[in-house]
Amino acid sequence: MKRAAHEVTEPQDAEARRRVAPVICYPVETLPRPDLAAYQAARDGWEKVAEVVVPPREARSFHVPAGSFFRIVSIEGPQVGDLNLWSADDVDERFFSGKTRALHGTHLSTGDQLWSCLPYLRPMATITHDTLDWYGFDAFGGSVHDVIGTRCDPYTHKLLSGEEYHHCCHSNLTRALSERLGKPKQEVEPAVHDVLNVFMCTGFTRDTGQYFMKASPVRPGDYLEFFAEIDLLGALSACPGGDCSTEHSSDTAACHPLLVEVYRPKAQPAGWTSPPRNGYSRSHED
Ligand SMILES: [Zn+2]
Repeated sequence: MKRAAHEVTEPQDAEARRRVAPVICYPVETLPRPDLAAYQAARDGWEKVAEVVVPPREARSFHVPAGSFFRIVSIEGPQVGDLNLWSADDVDERFFSGKTRALHGTHLSTGDQLWSCLPYLRPMATITHDTLDWYGFDAFGGSVHDVIGTRCDPYTHKLLSGEEYHHCCHSNLTRALSERLGKPKQEVEPAVHDVLNVFMCTGFTRDTGQYFMKASPVRPGDYLEFFAEIDLLGALSACPGGDCSTEHSSDTAACHPLLVEVYRPKAQPAGWTSPPRNGYSRSHED
């Protein structure tokens, strides 16, 4: 990490170099934008068709057909959820947290899309409502629903503490996917990927740039709502960190269940079609 004391002497023009203004890596003016109003209008008269309760320190999978909606709802108490998404037809196509971050920023909200990995790179889901949209960024630089974290996992925990813990989000998601696909845990584990940290409040410290978390502002009744752009297989873990105010990767924190609801609209949004895979030729010619 960046240290306060530097070993190397500054060049004379150090300040001038620091003053260079940043440019946005990926200007999104050319990115096709979803017609959010059409999506939101499609909710009128929708029907709830499925409901899955995710128990604390566990994960559950769910299916959302293209053109339907799903919500992740806080119930009973503040709780963070770790979300994985795959194409229902092919788990090789999965959520790409890094590129989603590059396109939409460190934390997601209404109107942002969840992109799939290369070579697919297409929107998997669009966020259509976020009851925590009011939070913005706090004085620490923290915000909710990040795509900067990875997921708590037993390997990092082993590295840092020397101990075994089997209810990290990575393991929970692995078990849920194994159960859904009817395949052994070791076989499906590589398909588990970096998550959308639903309801988690995170940022980077200003002095050292370290990843931090703080108590989530989520309260029962809050939800994050998505429109499925393609047929989705999802899995959600109710993180053992609970509201992530103190620690994760243990049974110490107070944990609560999360609810996933799937809604089928009466009609699909006006003008919407499910996006095709990315159009790059894949020739990689020199
Ligand atoms: Zn976790």
